[in-house]
Amino acid sequence: MKVRLARTAGFCMGVRRAMELALGAAHEAERPIFTYGPLIHNPQVLSLLEGKGIKALKELPEPGSLKGGTVIIRAHGVPPQDKARLREAGFAKVVDGTCPRVVRVQAIIRRAAREGRQVVIVGDAAHPEVVGLLGHAGGQGHVVSRPEQVAELPELQQVVAVAQTTQSEKLFSQVVRALEERFGRVEVHDTICEATHRRQDEVKRLARDNDGVVVVGGKASGNTKRLAEVAAEIGKPVFLVESEEDLDRSRLAKLGSVAVTAGASTPNWVIKRMLRELSFIRSLREGGFRFWLRRSFRFLALSQLVVALGAAGMALASQLLQGLRPDGDLVGVAFCYIYAMHILNQFLDKEAGQYNDPDRAHFLSKHRVFLIGTGVAAASAAVVLCALLGAVPFALVATMSVLGLLYSVPVVPRRLEKKIGIQRLKDIPGSKTLSAGLAWAFIVVVLPAVAMGLQSLSGTVLAFVFTLALVFVRCALFDVLDVQGDLIVGKETIPIMLGEAQTRRLLWWLTWGLCGLLALCAWAGAAPSLAWWLILPVAGIAAMQLLWARSWIMPGSVSEGLVDLNFWLAGLVALLWLAMQ
Ligand code: SF4
Repeated sequence: MKVRLARTAGFCMGVRRAMELALGAAHEAERPIFTYGPLIHNPQVLSLLEGKGIKALKELPEPGSLKGGTVIIRAHGVPPQDKARLREAGFAKVVDGTCPRVVRVQAIIRRAAREGRQVVIVGDAAHPEVVGLLGHAGGQGHVVSRPEQVAELPELQQVVAVAQTTQSEKLFSQVVRALEERFGRVEVHDTICEATHRRQDEVKRLARDNDGVVVVGGKASGNTKRLAEVAAEIGKPVFLVESEEDLDRSRLAKLGSVAVTAGASTPNWVIKRMLRELSFIRSLREGGFRFWLRRSFRFLALSQLVVALGAAGMALASQLLQGLRPDGDLVGVAFCYIYAMHILNQFLDKEAGQYNDPDRAHFLSKHRVFLIGTGVAAASAAVVLCALLGAVPFALVATMSVLGLLYSVPVVPRRLEKKIGIQRLKDIPGSKTLSAGLAWAFIVVVLPAVAMGLQSLSGTVLAFVFTLALVFVRCALFDVLDVQGDLIVGKETIPIMLGEAQTRRLLWWLTWGLCGLLALCAWAGAAPSLAWWLILPVAGIAAMQLLWARSWIMPGSVSEGLVDLNFWLAGLVALLWLAMQ
C-alpha cells in the first residue's frame, strides 16, 4: 500500500510555540507549573506534560490563593478577565502562550467593540478559543456555529464577522452569506489561519489523488474533526484515528494508496507511529516482491547495517582521495567502529528515541540481545584490527571508542553539574552533530593517514572536510526531523538552537559549498579527479533535503536509510574511479 504524508500534518506554528514555552518552563521555570486548561487537545501530549510535572488547571484559582509557581496560557488564548484573575491568584509568572494569529483576531474584536460595532464570531461556542475571543468583545459579541443560527440573532447594527482560526472555509462563507442577507452590509475578516487554509486545501487534494485518507488527532480536537469532514466531502473513505489501535486494518488493506494528515495538535511521534503501523498493512493490491524489498531495507536501516556499510564506502573514497593504496583492514575498521558506536549509543540514548523514532525504539527492544552482542563484537573487532596495524592506530581507535561510549553517560560530578549545567558530553549544545562528524572523519581519514603515512596533505584535508561536512549534514538533517522529541527530553541540538528554518538554510549552503570545494580542488589539481565524482553523493544528500522539505518522502527509518545510501554511493564511485585508473 502506498502511503503519502501530508506536508501540513502535525503541529502548527501556534501549537509548536505553546509546546516550546511549556517544555522550556518544565526545564527552568518556578514550580509548580500549570497550564490554564489543557495545553492542546491531544491526550498523548497531555500525559507527557503530566509526566514532566505540568498539570492542567480546571478552574481559575481564587485571588491570593497561591504563593508562586508558573501558569501557561494555551495557544487558544483566554478572555482578558481570566488573564487578570491568573495574575491576582499569586503565580510568580504568567506565561502567555496565545498564538500570535489568535492575538490578531482578539485585537480585531476589541477594536470593533471600542467603535461600538457588533461582532459575530463564526465558531464552536464551547471551544476555548471562541470563549476567549468572546471575552474580548466586551458584551458586544455573538457566536454562530451554523448558518441557520443567524435567524436567531437579535437585530444588529454595523456587523463585523470573524472566524475561529480553525473554522471550515465553507461554513464561514455560508454564515457570512446568511449575515449579509439578514443585516445588509457586513465587515468580513477572514481570520481562518493560513495553516488551516493550507491543511484543508491539501487534504482535499490528497483525498482526490488517493483511495482513502487517515486523519490523525485527538478526539476532542475540533480542527482534526474538520479535516476529516473536508476529506469526507470528496467521497473517499476517511479514517479518523487517535492512535494506531484505532486503525481499521482490514478496510485499509483493500486500498492501494492512503494519504495521512493530522490535526494542528498532533505531535510528530504520534504521526510516525501511525506511519509505522500503516507500513505493516500490506495492501491486497501490492506485489510480494516490493513488500519484501521494503521490509528488508527497513531491517538493514534499523540494524545500522546501511550506515556501517556506508562508513566502509566512505573509508575507501577517503583513502583514494588521500592518494593512499586501498586497504581492506582499514575499511573493515570503519565498518566495525561506526556499527558499534551507532548501535551502542542508541541504547544509551533511548529516551529521545521513543518520541523521535518509535519504529527504531521498538526494533531496539525486540532485538536487544543480538544488537548489543554484535555491537560489542564489532567494537572489539575494530580495536583488534587496529592493534594489528600498529601501536598508534590502536591507541587512536581505543581512545575514540572510549570517547564514543562516554558520550552518553554522566561524566561530570553532581556538584559541578549544577554550576555548568552539563552532565554528559551530549549535553553540550550541538555536540551530537559535530562529534558524529569528527568521529567519522578520524576513523575514515585520520586513521588511514596515520597507519599508512601521509601521501598528500591537500588530499587528506579535503577528505577530512568532505567526511566531516557530509556526516554533519546527515546528522543535522535527522535532528531537524527529530526536533519535537529532542525538545521533550531537553536536548540542545542545532535545530533547537538555530531554529528549523535557519538549520535547513545552513545545511543547504553547506551542501552546495562542499560541492564547490570538491570541484575547485579537482580543477586546481589539489586532489585526484575522484573529487569530481564525489560531488554525486553530496548532490544526493541535497536531493534528499529537497524531497524531505517538500514532504515527497516520509520521515522514518527507511528514508534515513536512503540518506545513508549516499555513503554507499561515495564508495561505489570510488571503486569505479579506481577501476578506470
Ligand atoms: S491553527 Fe493557526 S491560529 Fe490556531 S494555533 Fe495554530 S497557527 Fe495559531
